[in-house]
Amino acid sequence: MSKIIIANWKMKLSVKESLSLTERLSLGLNTKNQVIICPDFISLSLIAFLKTKKTFFLGAQDSATLAKHSLTGEVSAFNLKELGVSYVILGHSERRLYQKEDDKMINEKIKVALEAGLKVVLCLGDNKQEYQAKKTKAVIKSQLSNALKGLKLKKDSEIIIAYEPVWAIGSGMAMGAEEANEIAEFIKTSAKKFIKKPLKVLYGGSVDKNNAQLFLKQKNLQGLLVGGASLKAEEFLSICNN
Ligand code: PEP
Repeated sequence: MSKIIIANWKMKLSVKESLSLTERLSLGLNTKNQVIICPDFISLSLIAFLKTKKTFFLGAQDSATLAKHSLTGEVSAFNLKELGVSYVILGHSERRLYQKEDDKMINEKIKVALEAGLKVVLCLGDNKQEYQAKKTKAVIKSQLSNALKGLKLKKDSEIIIAYEPVWAIGSGMAMGAEEANEIAEFIKTSAKKFIKKPLKVLYGGSVDKNNAQLFLKQKNLQGLLVGGASLKAEEFLSICNN
């Protein structure tokens, strides 16, 4: 079955590097998997107008809490949609940590993004202390219910969950695939109250070409969110094309 593979480039590439990586992926992607690339906003708007064949979908790394407002520096989900962007990552742990995004803001962002017609990739994850204290499920349940509170989902609204243990992000130490599978199952059960249709859950956190297939083989995982390993064409292509 085809999987969803998301590349999160964060702010790691220059605009030129983003364009060149995009060209290489356009030529090299040869897969039934659904690949989504999420460059920074500036590169995203240039890539949207590139004439190269788009063998991938475009995703944004964030969008604003409001549709249109006096909010200096923010980007509206509606403008992303107008640009041809299909997905938006919301609630990434780096934004929760460094931009002080809380569950309420994430909930607002989800509402606006869905209203704009974007597919939402909602990130959930426990930190190392929570993981060691065996609080993973409680943390996830709380993040999930706060993020999805009061949502009125339309028939074509889509929310995908990316489970990303914070301690695994960028550390080179991925979670075991079977453990991730078990947490994905828990997420699906917990989300039933809010989302009636079958839910897709992705794993993220130090995925690379050596471990990607282990995660993709798991019953409850429908794909991957890839950071570092999505910055190198060969490595990302090997993850996607397998
Ligand atoms: C991420 O940023 O969401 C991520 C999973 O990064 P990495 O793959 O580098 O751990």
